[in-house]
This record gives sequence, C-alpha cells and structure tokens, in this order.
Amino acid sequence: MRVLLVGGGGREHALALGLAGDPAVEALVAAPGNPGIAAVAELREVTPTDPAAVAALAVEVAADLVVIGPEAPLVAGVADAVRAKGIAVFGPSAEAARLEGSKTFAKDVMTAAAVPTARAYTCEDAAAVGRALDEFGAPYVVKDDGLAAGKGVVVTDDRAVAERHAAECGRVVIEEYLSGPEVSLFVVTDGEAAVPLLPAQDFKRVGDGDTGPNTGGMGAYAPLPWAPPNLVDDVMRDVVHPTLAELRRRGTPFAGLLYVGLAITPSGPRVIEFNARFGDPETQVVLALLETPLAGLLHAAATGTLGAHPPLRWRDGAAVTVVVAADGYPAGPRTGDVITGADRAGIIHAGTRRDADGTLRSAGGRVICGTATGPDLAAARDAAYALVRDVELAGSHHRTDIAAAAVDGRVTIPG
Ligand code: AMP
Repeated sequence: MRVLLVGGGGREHALALGLAGDPAVEALVAAPGNPGIAAVAELREVTPTDPAAVAALAVEVAADLVVIGPEAPLVAGVADAVRAKGIAVFGPSAEAARLEGSKTFAKDVMTAAAVPTARAYTCEDAAAVGRALDEFGAPYVVKDDGLAAGKGVVVTDDRAVAERHAAECGRVVIEEYLSGPEVSLFVVTDGEAAVPLLPAQDFKRVGDGDTGPNTGGMGAYAPLPWAPPNLVDDVMRDVVHPTLAELRRRGTPFAGLLYVGLAITPSGPRVIEFNARFGDPETQVVLALLETPLAGLLHAAATGTLGAHPPLRWRDGAAVTVVVAADGYPAGPRTGDVITGADRAGIIHAGTRRDADGTLRSAGGRVICGTATGPDLAAARDAAYALVRDVELAGSHHRTDIAAAAVDGRVTIPG
C-alpha cells in the first residue's frame, strides 16, 4: 500500500510511526511533514488546506490511501477532493467535518440524536450573551463557534472575562459547566461500523494543577486506570452510534476519526466536544499502545469495509507523552531556538524545522513531545520525563504533573 499522510505536527509524527510500522505499507509520503517524520517518510511540499493541490499530489505519488491529520484541511474539503479522484481517504467530508468546524452544528446534531451533552445557547449579541451567562451561572463556559485550534474556549469564574471573550469572538456558544474528569475517546469509523480505540486523557491547561490558559494540549496518558469499566460501551451506545446514525440520516455520513471529548460527570458521561480527526497529543499515547497495523485499519475505514476488520490488539502496559512548549506559548510562542537532545527514539516532533547544516530549531508553540511506554503508568511516566529532561530548548516549559494524579489514584468522579 502507498500512503500519503497530510500534516506536519506531533499527531502526524505519531501517525507516521504507526503507518511506517505496518508491513503492508510499501511507501509512505508525508506532506509537508517535519524533521521527525523525515526519518520514516519521504517529504513533499504542499499547502495542506488546498484541496486541488493535495488531490494532485495523491495522484502523483500513486497513493492507495490518503490520511489527513489536521482539522483545517478536512473543513476545507481536502477529503472530498481526494475522494473525487477515486483515491481512498481517511478523513470525513467537509460537510461531516462541521461536527468540529461549527460548535452550533455539533450541538444541533447532538440534540437531534439525543446525545448527552451540556445545555447550550448560540449567541450573537451582548444581550443574548448576558441572558445565557445569567441562566447557567459560574463557572462560565464561552466557546468561539468556529475552528480555534483548541484555544477558542474560555472557562472562567470572572463574568467580565467571559463577556470580553464573547465580544471578541462574535458568534459564540455559551453552555452549562460540566464537572468531572475528562476523557478523549477516538473512534475509527466508515460511517456505519465504528471501532473505539483506548480512552486517553489529555491536559489542556498550560500549567501544573490545571492552571493558566487553555492550550492545544500539554500531555496525555492511556489507558485510564480510574475509568468506569463500562465507559467505552456506554459511549458507543449513547453517543457514537446515535451521532453516526443522525449524520447518515442527513445524507452526510461521517467516515474517519470521530474524536469524542467527554466529561465524566456525576450523572454519567457528557460530550464536551466532537473533533473530526485524531487528537494531539493523545494520538501519541494511543498509537504507542496499538498493536494492530495502522494502515490496514484506516484503509478499512476509508473503503467502507471496517465491519469485516478483525478486533484490535493492544500492547500491555501504559503510555505517557509530555509536551515541551516554546517560550511564550500559548499566548505568543517564540520560534527559531536551537533544540538539542531531540534526535532519539520516543521524541515526537510537533513544531520543529531543520537548517541545511542539520541544526534543529523550534518552529511552533508545542515543539516536541517525549513519548514512552512502560509496564504500568508510573513506569511510562518516569520514562517520558526522562526523555524530556534530555531535551534542551531555551525558554521552554512543560507540565510536571502529566499522569501524576492517575498514578497516585487521585482521579475521582464527583458525586
Ligand atoms: P473544547 O475546545 O470544546 O474541547 O474545550 C476546551 C476545554 O475547555 C475542554 O477540554 C474542557 O477542559 C473545557 N470545557 C469545554 N466545555 C466545557 C464545559 N461545558 N464544562 C466544563 N469544561 C469545559
């Protein structure tokens, strides 16, 4: 199988490792890729959000499968353009990707499918914002209606902050606050059959103890020792299958990766958000534990044959990833700094570039992730932090408490 992978962040590096490790893959091309991906794939230039350019590249490299990593190309219709060339593509149509691209659309689908989620209002002016904030009370949850790379959400007790965010965004979704630990569940689907991956937890806030602003994600671990045993089955029954059925009913079936972001509240799992692609950095830990060949699984989803795919196999043990972020991330990351100690197994490149002389430099907010597995969560955590300790990047910062509460048995479901 010849595979074209679109994207160039940490998620795509993790996907590249999985795809390159599948014996059925005879050639892996990544566009634009990054210096970490370059070790396992041929890199090509492309603008990932340009549907015609990506489709032309897929034809040129004679791809049997195109895997689209990030959300922006999906929302831009890249999967549609590739599919129109008769090439199998892992990633939903632009219509179905609205599940991530518009919070209002996602809420509408969830309401129609009776999916448990936070009550919400879409607001377009200050008066409507005021009414919604009054109704739900603090903590206030205000979400930009469009794509915002995980950073368009403000959760705050400060009403003035909530009102200011709403005014800056224009159209917002204001919703009820959900309390409880968060879970990311990835589901591979061909629109009808659906296969859950291991649930993972990520860390959205920039600082230890979940302090500071939201980020794209500062670390993750899997599996979740504290998760209720029936969690995945319940979410498949109450969330995933009703959502997929509603999208089929609307004539826009969702094929690709359905990312279900959940809060485990006292009254059960509630959807916080849907995404239309693998989450970053949870992908790094989930794929580190997946034993089933990745390209075969994604190809089955891309060709409507997932129902005939054998059950997934998982490695024993646990995986942890710790993100090393640039100085100033998330507000204004500084780029161009030299990175040393990153050319080793377990280091995932998220935002890096390489000079002609081989020097590795930071090129994004989240720069590298130290990803490790181990026989248990404590061992995986120690190994991930050992990787991060050896990386040097001026001004960088990382959280020191990734997976700590889970290791110590301190994650509890309220109520
Ligand atoms: P989102 O982009 O919708 O995933 O939101 C980013 C983060 O904001 C989530 O991972 C949660 O930590 C938090 N968040 C979003 N919606 C809610 C909610 N209704 N209640 C509590 N926290 C939320």
